[in-house]
Amino acid sequence: MANVKTRAQLEGGQWRINGQKVWTSLAHESDWCFVIARTEPGSVGHKGLSFLLVPMDQPGIQVRPIEQITATCEFNEVFLDDAVTDADNIVGQPGDGWKIAMALLGFERGVSTLGQQMQFQNELDQIIAIARDNGQAQDPVMRQRIADAWIGLRIMRYNSLRMLSGPQDGSLSKAAMIYKLYWASWHRDLGKLAMDVLGPASEILEGAPYDLTRLQSLYLFTRSDTLYGGTNEIQRNIIAERALEMPREPRIR
Ligand SMILES: Cc1cc2nc3c(=O)[nH]c(=O)nc-3n(C[C@H](O)[C@H](O)[C@H](O)COP(=O)(O)OP(=O)(O)OC[C@H]3O[C@@H](n4cnc5c(N)ncnc54)[C@H](O)[C@@H]3O)c2cc1C
Repeated sequence: MANVKTRAQLEGGQWRINGQKVWTSLAHESDWCFVIARTEPGSVGHKGLSFLLVPMDQPGIQVRPIEQITATCEFNEVFLDDAVTDADNIVGQPGDGWKIAMALLGFERGVSTLGQQMQFQNELDQIIAIARDNGQAQDPVMRQRIADAWIGLRIMRYNSLRMLSGPQDGSLSKAAMIYKLYWASWHRDLGKLAMDVLGPASEILEGAPYDLTRLQSLYLFTRSDTLYGGTNEIQRNIIAERALEMPREPRIR
């Protein structure tokens, strides 16, 4: 969980942490979390932040689930009110927090998501089977969209292989920079394709009162793919500045 307004100070061999984080995926199931907290009073921006590992099961931490449009609560608000963790539970040195968070984000946006391509293939296979079954596979425009989805998944795979054979020095390779933007946009479009292939049947729930089918859940959840882990706009800024070496966008101080 990253929030530069969260503060921590060392007291008697422990970090004492105060702050709050909206939208922490799976906090309700986690034993530990990481917190990026301001540990150098008076520091600004990305400086003076530290990367702390914090046990979740303690009185100083309160987790409040947020119900989503999919009717699941897989992410949460987390409140840290005098939460504590041992002084040793710091990754790197005090003040290294931003650098470590960026390396972690590189992993989150890149190779950590490779496995999900199998899930994507499985979802696409289901959509193709439905299209064959309900006649949508005969529609020329729908056939083109399905073929585009299939091609997109192949491109994703080849880009992943490039990523795996890219620099292993911890820097974010250029191939990895386009990956989050690419898969998130592809998956969002797959959700829309699923609903269009289903046609009017996409409106029918699995059961009352709000039991969604797998593809309805896919459609609704994929609306968030282009947000979490860095929005599409932020990914485009990263590509422009770091991969294409275009001028940095103006920073508001
Ligand atoms: C399902 C889900 C799970 C999440 N899980 C976690 C989690 O586990 N841990 C965690 O820390 N966070 C989590 N998040 C939060 C997520 O990382 C943020 O929502 C995301 O990074 C966007 O930040 P924001 O919400 O502050 O939007 P903002 O930064 O306020 O952006 C709002 C809009 O403005 C655009 N924008 C902002 N800055 C720029 C710019 N410089 N140039 C162009 N456009 C810009 C954005 O693209 C967006 O459209 C989760 C979010 C979701 C939806």
